[in-house]
Amino acid sequence: MADSCLPASLDMNSLPIVRIDLNVPPLDQIIEALLPELSKNFKTVSVDVVQCPNLTCPPFNLAAEGLNGDETVIDIGSPSFLLPLVNLSKVYDIRDFTKVTGTDSLFVIGAGAGPWPHAGVNCEFIGNVQLTSNDSIKNNSSHIYKVDLQTESQVHNHLPQDETRFALLANFFTSRGLKGQVLKIVCETRNGPLDFVTSIRQALAKYFGNKPVGLGGVILIETSKVKVHVMRDFSKTPLHSETDLNNWLKFYEADTPLVGLGYLVSHDPDLDLRPQHFHLFSNHGVGGHYHYDTEPTTVKYTAYLNVAKKLIRVDQPEIAPLFDQNNNNHIMNSQFLFITFCSLSLNNHYYNQNCLLSRSYSVISIATVAPSLQQRNDFCPRTNLLNNCTQQLLLKIVFLHIKIIEIIDDNNCSMNTLNTWYANCQTPSRLDRQFTDDLLSILSNTLTVRTMNFTQV
Ligand SMILES: [Zn+2]
Repeated sequence: MADSCLPASLDMNSLPIVRIDLNVPPLDQIIEALLPELSKNFKTVSVDVVQCPNLTCPPFNLAAEGLNGDETVIDIGSPSFLLPLVNLSKVYDIRDFTKVTGTDSLFVIGAGAGPWPHAGVNCEFIGNVQLTSNDSIKNNSSHIYKVDLQTESQVHNHLPQDETRFALLANFFTSRGLKGQVLKIVCETRNGPLDFVTSIRQALAKYFGNKPVGLGGVILIETSKVKVHVMRDFSKTPLHSETDLNNWLKFYEADTPLVGLGYLVSHDPDLDLRPQHFHLFSNHGVGGHYHYDTEPTTVKYTAYLNVAKKLIRVDQPEIAPLFDQNNNNHIMNSQFLFITFCSLSLNNHYYNQNCLLSRSYSVISIATVAPSLQQRNDFCPRTNLLNNCTQQLLLKIVFLHIKIIEIIDDNNCSMNTLNTWYANCQTPSRLDRQFTDDLLSILSNTLTVRTMNFTQV
């Protein structure tokens, strides 16, 4: 492919950027949060504050020595740029991060989609770059993994020094790369259901609640084997469900030792964050997206992580993805709640006249849309959310619709409250937790519904 045919990297400063201060508890408090929870999942656990080892040495081979100085986590892009079909314009450059963070001498590590214009195909990206104060590259030790088109085996490449691009979505921990104190977490022999990263994130979420704590750094997996995936080249057919996605991804059981780079954030402050993302690399040709260890009785994890002070969300899409590997149920639920609400609002003028008619109309209108998605914009004119609707999702919507209408009938409630709220909602095109929470709270307050277990719908 000629370079002239390839998209230029997006200017990061021209993209939407949100910066927030994270909760930065003392390291001792994080230890207090982690120890009891990790001990439920691993037989042997230790969490200590230590001086960071020199991470440029084996087995880490990172681009800078430490994880300290202006610690930040960056979530850029979204799975919705990959699914259901790829958006090839979403190519970014790590060199732009100095502008975004305001930090020079930036050390960037993390996980994302690789620079397909360089690789020729879609690939996994393990970012490992140190930039100097004038955005030039001091050390680029980044990796990509791709799937061989013929053999379907993994292909590992080091990126050239001057190739700092990535694509679509990525999650980074950035710092000045200075030596300093960090958390050392060692877990051996997994006897619980959670993988290493999830167990840390959930422990923080349990302790710190809705005050988000972000950790990033490096994980060494010395023993066991590890389930990973590597993305195949971009799918030419739309990926509409998690099943489609899993059929498209190529899964492997990778031999250790493996080194992982990435971040985790304990709570999403309504930014459609990817809550955790680590990619693994090695010197023996295998790596990819970390899922979990497959030989729990022998596994040993050693992580050096530091606490991020800031979170930067770059290029958050307006519409949340339809499904997400880490948080499938929630996104599905918010999506169909939203669509249901839109259709209720559209049909509301029937309610005041004849509830029976309204029930029939609502159900029929959705059922009509289901087999014919071209009508989606007529059905739901203020959003194109039905674009990616699966049949399964539409069935859920119909079901939920009936339930809500029954509730309204039973409570003899007017639609005024819902309509007022909807009218005040200027851009109801984003699906997020706040949106779902608002809707649930209105339903529960005005319709005296205490709990609705949508996951059973
Ligand atoms: Zn990944």
